[in-house]
Amino acid sequence: MRMRCVDVQSELVAYLDNELSKIAKTVIEEHLESCERCTAEMIALQETVEASKTWQPIQPSSNFMIQLREQIEDASPPDLATELRHLRITLDLLTQQLQQEKHTSEIMDIEQVAAYLRMGVDELWSMLDDLPHFQLGYELRFKKSSIDEWIRAREDRNEPGIGDWYGDRWLQRMSRSSS
Ligand SMILES: [Zn+2]
Repeated sequence: MRMRCVDVQSELVAYLDNELSKIAKTVIEEHLESCERCTAEMIALQETVEASKTWQPIQPSSNFMIQLREQIEDASPPDLATELRHLRITLDLLTQQLQQEKHTSEIMDIEQVAAYLRMGVDELWSMLDDLPHFQLGYELRFKKSSIDEWIRAREDRNEPGIGDWYGDRWLQRMSRSSS
C-alpha cells in the first residue's frame, strides 16, 4: 500500500512514540525508505523529541531579581510616563464611548432604563404598567425617545397627583420619612 506523504507525516509522532500497529509501522518504514522528504521530517521530529528530553527547568541565578529590579529602575522614566499618559487618554476615550453607548442607544433593556432613570430594576418593574415599553419575544424593551417623552409628561405636572403611581409612591415616601 502506497501512502501519501501528508498521511505519513501526520503519523510520524505516533511512529516515534512507538504507538502504531505493526502493520502501520511497516507501511511507514517502507515509505520512509523511498521518500527523502518524509525521512527528513522524521529526523527533525526525532531531534526535537530528543532535545525536549534534555531540557532542564530554568533556575534563575540568585541575583536575578536584583538585576531585574536595577534594569527596571534604569529604564528611562519619561518613556514610561508618556506611555502611561497615552494609555490614560485611550482609557478615558473608551470610557466616554462606553457611557455614551449606554445612555444613547435608542432601544434599551430594563437594566439600561433603570440605570438611565437612576433607580433599581425592582422598582422599575413595579411601575411597568405606566412606562411605555414593548415586548420582544419574552424580553422587555424600551424606546429611549418614548421614555424621554414620558419624563417630559411628568415634568409638566407641577405636583404629583394622588392616585397615579408616582403620587402614591411619593406619599409613601413622605409618610415613611416622617415616621
Ligand atoms: Zn513521503
